Amino acid sequence: MNQITKEDIAKSIRDIPDFPKKGILFKDLTTAFKKPEILTAISDDLYEYYASSGITKVVGIESRGFIAGSILASRLGAGFVPIRKPGKLPGDTYAFEYDLEYGSDTIEIHKDALEKNDIVLLHDDLLATGGTASAALELLKIFEVSNVMINFIVELSFLKGRDSLSDEYDIYSMITF
Ligand code: AMP
Repeated sequence: MNQITKEDIAKSIRDIPDFPKKGILFKDLTTAFKKPEILTAISDDLYEYYASSGITKVVGIESRGFIAGSILASRLGAGFVPIRKPGKLPGDTYAFEYDLEYGSDTIEIHKDALEKNDIVLLHDDLLATGGTASAALELLKIFEVSNVMINFIVELSFLKGRDSLSDEYDIYSMITF
């Protein structure tokens, strides 16, 4: 990772208190992505970690998982697959509904997005409680892909989201707060 350290990347992430609601300290990665040298360092770090993994598809979670996810897919020579909120994908989709603190949410993936023999990297910008990533894994299970790795740029370790993800997966978080 050229001369930029993980500490530099961590420092470039802005904290926004009480967004989107009171009590949440939002980790805003737009301040990291807008700096060319940080964006390159993030891309280089992910590339180095996954270069020899044989990944054929990077699956990014809407919408912040699309940014580094698609850069990484291109560098790895892999395809990029979006997981989106309901009604956004134009083709036939599989949907998975999951519980939130209040109410529920649904995510979707195109039915023809993956093949059983794909080597998949599930990517999102941040791991908080793990609810979103767990739901995304349920969608991946429909395709019976056996080779799945998981990546986040940031992990909020105090929320213990990692515990909700099975330890059968290789989970790489670049930065932990
Ligand atoms: P969770 O399902 O709780 O793991 O939340 C992860 C998703 O919500 C990711 O897509 C994040 O972009 C977003 N998110 C949750 N909490 C935060 C936070 N404190 N700062 C930034 N993004 C967050």
